[in-house]
Amino acid sequence: MKISAITVFPLTSERPELKVGKPIHPSWWGYDQALVKVDTDEGISGWGTAGTRWELADAARKVLTPHFIGEDALQPDAVTERAHQWTFWYGRGGTITNFVGAMNQALWDIFGKSTGQSVSRLFGGRFTDTIKPYASMLFEWPVDQMIRQLEAGMELNFRAFKMGWGTFGRVDANRDRELVSAARKAVGDDVEIMVDAGGSDIYWHNGLKWAMETARMLADYNVKWFEEPLRADDLEGYKALTASSPVPISGGEVLTRRQAFEPWIRERAVDILQPDQTICGGLSETRRIWQMAYDNNVQVITHGWNTAVGLAADLQLAASMPDSKYVEFWYPAPYVDGILVDPFMLNADGLLDIPDKPGLGIELDEDAIKERGKGADDYGL
Ligand SMILES: [Mg+2]
Repeated sequence: MKISAITVFPLTSERPELKVGKPIHPSWWGYDQALVKVDTDEGISGWGTAGTRWELADAARKVLTPHFIGEDALQPDAVTERAHQWTFWYGRGGTITNFVGAMNQALWDIFGKSTGQSVSRLFGGRFTDTIKPYASMLFEWPVDQMIRQLEAGMELNFRAFKMGWGTFGRVDANRDRELVSAARKAVGDDVEIMVDAGGSDIYWHNGLKWAMETARMLADYNVKWFEEPLRADDLEGYKALTASSPVPISGGEVLTRRQAFEPWIRERAVDILQPDQTICGGLSETRRIWQMAYDNNVQVITHGWNTAVGLAADLQLAASMPDSKYVEFWYPAPYVDGILVDPFMLNADGLLDIPDKPGLGIELDEDAIKERGKGADDYGL
């Protein structure tokens, strides 16, 4: 079975104002995503997500298509690892890595469909059939809208919520406490909450002392973990914080390629490592990172602020690892709920059933996808 065509589909219908302290730039679209569809000469197709703007993913597609066409579609790891290796002068760790990662997801999807097995089975088997999703949303100020969203999420059976960015860490300590206190009050004591400072934000200005003080505040509200409290590359800062924080520290969503994760694992720089498949290199790469972390007793909870395809890939990977705990579920989630024939639904216990159907176990609605990519070229420049 040979790769016969590769298509990039823009997901650009959701471009709300970025809710951070200051606007970054009118054409900065943090929400844009790119779906990658791989067709084969035997009629089976697979899907992946490149966690970047579609224009960049499509540029990578143009460059790499001649090298992928005609390759064996049933060798996901070999085909994409070769691509990772020989693109060493093409900007490795950037768009090329995002795109090859999407190809990797799509080829695993095809391999599963052609063998009649879910990807988690192809990875050697399933340690679990269900997992707890946490609803991943943004802090809002004033808090009214955020509280309504939390309440609506509980109606959908979510039992864990991560709130992030917004004005958290960007005004003062009182604001931070008020945001977290309002969220805790809204969900009660039995629902889990996590806090994401968003330290990969432009010129993140908070340092180690702020993070230490804030971590102590978060402990008062029984926060499950504190995400990206420091700049994304501050390895030494994370080591010091993780060693002293009363709440678990997480990070790693912007890192790419397994080699970048190695020191974070070796140095125990975080309690929870958060590789993003759609950014760091796909299913195969994230599985390697997770295995390395597991062997060193570091928890992995994949980062997943992208699409239903990314979520499906996260679910397959989580099923195949012995210590999986949560999956990130973008909420409200236009590119998760809005592009599937049968959207993911939480069960009565607030868990997601992990598909055990061939490949990634989802069916995409191509009309809905095209609808969400209309006007993709018009981004205000
Ligand atoms: Mg984050």
